[in-house]
Amino acid sequence: MLSAPVTPGGTIGILGGGQLGRMLALAAARLGLKAHVFSEENDAPAFQVSATQTYASYRNADALKKFAQACDAITCEFENVPAETLELLAQITPVNPNAQALATTQERFEEKTFVSGLGLNTAAFLAIDSVERARTAFAELGSRKAVLKTRRLGYDGKGQTIVTSADEAAAAFDLFKGAPLLLESFVDFAFEASVIAVRSADGAFAAYDPPENDHSEHILRRSTVPSRLNSEQSIEAKAMARKIADALDYVGVLCVELFVCADGKLLVNEIAPRVHNSGHWTIDACLVSQFEQHIRAVAGWPLGSTERHSDAVMENILGEEARDWQALVARGGALHLYGKSDIRPGRKMGHITWLKPKAAAR
Ligand code: AMP
Repeated sequence: MLSAPVTPGGTIGILGGGQLGRMLALAAARLGLKAHVFSEENDAPAFQVSATQTYASYRNADALKKFAQACDAITCEFENVPAETLELLAQITPVNPNAQALATTQERFEEKTFVSGLGLNTAAFLAIDSVERARTAFAELGSRKAVLKTRRLGYDGKGQTIVTSADEAAAAFDLFKGAPLLLESFVDFAFEASVIAVRSADGAFAAYDPPENDHSEHILRRSTVPSRLNSEQSIEAKAMARKIADALDYVGVLCVELFVCADGKLLVNEIAPRVHNSGHWTIDACLVSQFEQHIRAVAGWPLGSTERHSDAVMENILGEEARDWQALVARGGALHLYGKSDIRPGRKMGHITWLKPKAAAR
């Protein structure tokens, strides 16, 4: 817990140096705060825009101690921070979100058990620890299709495969080389949406209008606000995020990814304990972006408005698309490039946001 807010001129430590860390550092700078970025990559995009940089392993105790001593508050831009790293940092400087929130959301089985324990809907899911269990679990779920997922370290669809029979589930088990798995019913959703929400240490809560998210090959392609959710569903989605944030005693921005079913039902797919790609449009379409909200929350400042002044469409720039940067600049919209020199297939290189005058609420 912070005993007092970080004052302007203070330093926010950011563990992780990707584009999320970069946009957090930029938001901190706008508030007169300095960012100290700690990354395992020596050409981390967030290094380019931060006041101080540490290039070291997340397991380097000496480097972590020096980092913590140099910061007034610490946060992370990714969820898979080793538990010992957080423990060490938290002994010296306040770290948010808290270690328990990260632990719960790092592990898909624990996460889904936690979410359903709150009375929120998820796809049916079962833990898988053997080939035989993969086979029987498929039958037990009773759905035509299921998704076999690793319990840890999955993102952008990495570590998951669709199976359509008990035999396929058993065969897929071996693909994951004995890693703990989860089998979950395939949800034939109408569309996907997410809630970008923020909670402060004193329990204040705010959420943006939920964007609708289009994925291609499991990678987010586009986020659109307003979404096709009606106003009751938006209120319900925000209330779900609040229930989750309160139960985790969460401080900072979190994202709750949802499947929206044809009958209107909302299922929680995943919780991201951090700023999220589906909230990048808030930089250009809101007075206070998700990045600034996160910095405010971890610095112990009052939250800002989540009001959207415009309708928005955000599109990711992936892999090779970034090569033609001149065409991207010429497309109009607000262009954000992340300063990554190395282009790899599917890598998030930047995004563009287009704005339109805000339409009347549905
Ligand atoms: P995840 O890594 O679990 O967030 O999954 C990435 C994407 O895969 C989701 O955004 C969905 O598009 C798809 N997906 C994951 N799980 C399911 C499921 N149970 N049913 C249908 N699609 C899924």
